[in-house]
Amino acid sequence: MRLVLLGPPGAGKGTQAARLVEKYGIPQLSTGDMLRSAVAAETPIGLQAKAIMESGALVPDDVVIGIIDQRIDAADCLNGFILDGFPRTVAQAEALRALLARKGQKLDAVVELIVDENVLVDRMRQRVAETLAAGQHVRADDNSESFRARLETYRAQTAPVSDHYRQKGELKCVDGMAKIDMVTAAINQQIAG
Ligand code: AMP
Repeated sequence: MRLVLLGPPGAGKGTQAARLVEKYGIPQLSTGDMLRSAVAAETPIGLQAKAIMESGALVPDDVVIGIIDQRIDAADCLNGFILDGFPRTVAQAEALRALLARKGQKLDAVVELIVDENVLVDRMRQRVAETLAAGQHVRADDNSESFRARLETYRAQTAPVSDHYRQKGELKCVDGMAKIDMVTAAINQQIAG
């Protein structure tokens, strides 16, 4: 099962990806998580990405495409993977198609979580409160200013990715406003259908 989860920041991609990991026994590949690890480890990619991420902009396409190209060659991706936060530009979507074709693979499903933009800032604030309550580290880009920039970046650069897959007849949409379990059920239904 090779799956892409699309949706704006705060749509619930990470939450749903974690559930799909359980169900299908395939890894969640979050470019955001991989980049945050690179930032924490102060690798050359991390040093390049840190300020870009904090500003809410996108890391260059070639950087994330390179990361994903390498990552899906790992043994744990043999039976598939869930892409969370990638592709985020049409160029990334096209590169993904090409690199999968080169490996003799293709996507099985592209699922977009449709969420009312008005709830996204509240969801981010809730995530921050829960993270703090759990005594964990809050993401540097989970503050009102960065979050609004991330939403703007999403509108300008990532929303066209949905259109890209829609035009190819590959996009499946799920109501991301429903309760978490209902969203999970709807995703599973779309994947099976
Ligand atoms: P996320 O955890 O998916 O919200 O990603 C956090 C930040 O990492 C984004 O705001 C971007 O700066 C960067 N990032 C993550 N994935 C990508 C991607 N596919 N392309 C470019 N930048 C990305």
